[in-house]
Amino acid sequence: MIDILKIGFLTITLSDIIDIAIVTFIFYKLYVILRGTVAAQIFIGLLIILFFSFISQSLNLRAVSWLLRLITDIWVIAFVILFQPEIRRLLVILASNPIFRVFSKTESLESTDAIVNAAFELSQHQHGALIVIIKSSGIRGFAETGEILNARLSTPLLTSIFYPKAPLHDGAVIINGDLIEAARCTLPLSQVTTVNGESLGMRHRAGLGISEQADVICVIVSEETGSISIAENGKLSRGLSKEALKNKLNQAFKSPAKKGWKGLIEQLRKQK
Ligand code: ATP
Ligand code: MG
Repeated sequence: MIDILKIGFLTITLSDIIDIAIVTFIFYKLYVILRGTVAAQIFIGLLIILFFSFISQSLNLRAVSWLLRLITDIWVIAFVILFQPEIRRLLVILASNPIFRVFSKTESLESTDAIVNAAFELSQHQHGALIVIIKSSGIRGFAETGEILNARLSTPLLTSIFYPKAPLHDGAVIINGDLIEAARCTLPLSQVTTVNGESLGMRHRAGLGISEQADVICVIVSEETGSISIAENGKLSRGLSKEALKNKLNQAFKSPAKKGWKGLIEQLRKQK
């Protein structure tokens, strides 16, 4: 390899510079993504330990290196356990990014009308509903908490499922493409209990909860007020008009995420 610089016993080659540039880039990107979160402080702690273990290794302090390596290993495991929800969220966002989307199937837009019409019929009758629409990855685990249907999606089928005296009206319906995959499903509740000062009931928290954990869009019809809300990426938009609902659903299917690193970071920011 070409020697670029010689400082005493230290020779720096081109590959050293590329090596360090790549590591710097990775750490910088990680820092930008995590900036302003608790994870960032822990991440900085980890960097400091890594720095000291590097120093002690180059000075050949074997006992100190051993101790520091032990701490690093434990730190990494603790990091994964403590930030399991954030890491899961990051993976979901990564998977829903167009860069990786090439590998997952694209959904048809035809179902949008059926869902929008059903939501408005339900809203007019003040029948509560919780509809999860899968965007990229499936959520088989949650579908299995209910009744698997795999039935062709239609407005009358949706409205009859949520008819309050129907056996399947409780819980959530999961829609995948043009199929109603399951009904009466139990979803994870969000930790968020109020939005703009208004407290959220179970149905709204369940819709919000699944949108935090998976790449889905959730339509919620309130039984109390008949209002229609959407939960997406851990955010709730309430009181939507028919047009707004249609636009949101179409948008979610057409341009699911902004491209590249900027889009990724922006989506992560929106979580906070
Ligand atoms: P609404 O405005 O319709 O009253 P809300 O947000 O106030 O909605 P609740 O009144 O608590 O919510 O609604 C209860 C209904 O929400 C239950 O009957 C059930 O169908 C649904 N629900 C509650 N928890 C879950 C859950 N974990 N997963 C799926 N559905 C749930
Ligand atoms: Mg309620």
